[in-house]
Amino acid sequence: MSKPSLGTRLFISHLLVMIVGLGCFAIAAKVSSPRMFVLRLEQLEKRGLFTVRSARTYLVDGFNIAWNIGALWSLVLGATAAGGISYVASKRIMKPLKQMKQIVQQFAAGDLGERMPESEIPELNQLGVSFNSMASSLGDVETRRRDLISDLTHELRTPLTVMRGYLEELADGKIEGSPELYLRLVRETRRLERLISDLQQLSQAEAGYLSINLQAVNLMPLLKSLVERFQDQLLEEGPTIKLIYPKELPPALADIDRTEQILVNLLGNAVRYTKTGSITVKAEKANNQIWIEVKDTGIGIAHEDLPYIFERFWRADRSRCSNSGGTGIGLAIVRRLVELQGGKIQVSSILGKGSVFRFCLPTA
Ligand code: ADP
Repeated sequence: MSKPSLGTRLFISHLLVMIVGLGCFAIAAKVSSPRMFVLRLEQLEKRGLFTVRSARTYLVDGFNIAWNIGALWSLVLGATAAGGISYVASKRIMKPLKQMKQIVQQFAAGDLGERMPESEIPELNQLGVSFNSMASSLGDVETRRRDLISDLTHELRTPLTVMRGYLEELADGKIEGSPELYLRLVRETRRLERLISDLQQLSQAEAGYLSINLQAVNLMPLLKSLVERFQDQLLEEGPTIKLIYPKELPPALADIDRTEQILVNLLGNAVRYTKTGSITVKAEKANNQIWIEVKDTGIGIAHEDLPYIFERFWRADRSRCSNSGGTGIGLAIVRRLVELQGGKIQVSSILGKGSVFRFCLPTA
């Protein structure tokens, strides 16, 4: 059976107070008035005043007095009982509200572990449930914020320590400056720059600030120009890169700049983690979606690592990838950008054999 609402409760408690008040009044008046009246009549009789004519005024007086005394008693009793009930009722309603106020204050003071207890009043219960779910999501945000800061300090510290080490040794004259050394220092500063720009993109994408301008776009020119761009960067002994596409590819409903960003990140990874072999970019239409695949024959990703690769700062092997300049943020950005455009991303990989990243975008 559903519990009565707060409105019904308030109405019933007021009705109860009124009924009790009036009831007390009626009972007290009923019990005391005749007794008072009889008492008055007896007083009159004793004084020998009891003839009907002369008694009229006295009788009326007597009734008046009896009624006044009775009414006074009723008033006192009724008011006490009604006040008592009102007090108890308001206390029962106020108790959970006070509790809530206290919890909210604790929350504001940073104690995010507090939760609202269940209440027998449905409205307050709903409020408590909403508050608790808000508290959980705030708690998650807080945990993610802490994780981000600790990951970030770690990521920033590594290149800074390397640079400081070299610079100190240079200053002490322990090592001599050489082009390789300076290039190493430049690489570390580049790493810092990349980290900061990746972070900026990620925070924009995660916080939803990133504007997504969806429109019908033909993806072919973009794919062709990107493949050409990456081809130019590849060394002779490195992997080859090719593009496979159907005769006709319908336009996608996408943001061209964000799609380019996704592809640059996926192709960048493919190039970074593929020493020899091939990188294939494939576009195809399936149902109402356009799937784009970036396949490489590189180092691959272990099966147990696959669930984590889209998490920020996650890298298969921290030392290996930090040497290669990876920040572990690229794929987190990719996933967010794909989702913001209404698509999804999948990965499959075999360690030592290569990886396949596929994402889809809706057709226009
Ligand atoms: P990073 O900047 O380190 O490449 P990403 O978020 O792009 O960061 O990738 C996360 C991790 O996933 C990488 O550090 C790497 O270990 C792994 N990874 C991503 N793409 C590939 C790939 N094509 N082949 C092998 N490993 C990959």
